[in-house]
Amino acid sequence: MVTYDDDTPEYAAMAARLDRLQQVPTDVLTTVVVRRGLCLWGLWPAQEPDWEDCAPSDRALAERLCEGCPVIDQCLELELRTAGPSTTGVWGALPEDDRRALHRVWQRHRQQQNQNDQEGGATP
Ligand code: SF4
Repeated sequence: MVTYDDDTPEYAAMAARLDRLQQVPTDVLTTVVVRRGLCLWGLWPAQEPDWEDCAPSDRALAERLCEGCPVIDQCLELELRTAGPSTTGVWGALPEDDRRALHRVWQRHRQQQNQNDQEGGATP
């Protein structure tokens, strides 16, 4: 069952997984996603659905659509940065309800990381 509780460990793991992209400039991420993102070349692995019928919480559909894309994390990081809570549709192999919940967790995680960096401490 999909939940959108900010305390869901899955979101914390996703936010931590994106740490490696924290220092990558947004314009570089954009270039990478545009050049290599499967959907941006009309190469959805699964047949593109009728978007009118898609639920904003359909994680299985999002995973299926983005399966095999080589820039899933870059796409997700970019969407979290640029669209934030206003995100819509499928990006980064997640539906929008998941990304909105993840965005809150990701934001707190980054703030904590930045604070730790400034204090010279370790990331919890
Ligand atoms: S992760 Fe999905 S939405 Fe993002 S570029 Fe790849 S196929 Fe497109």
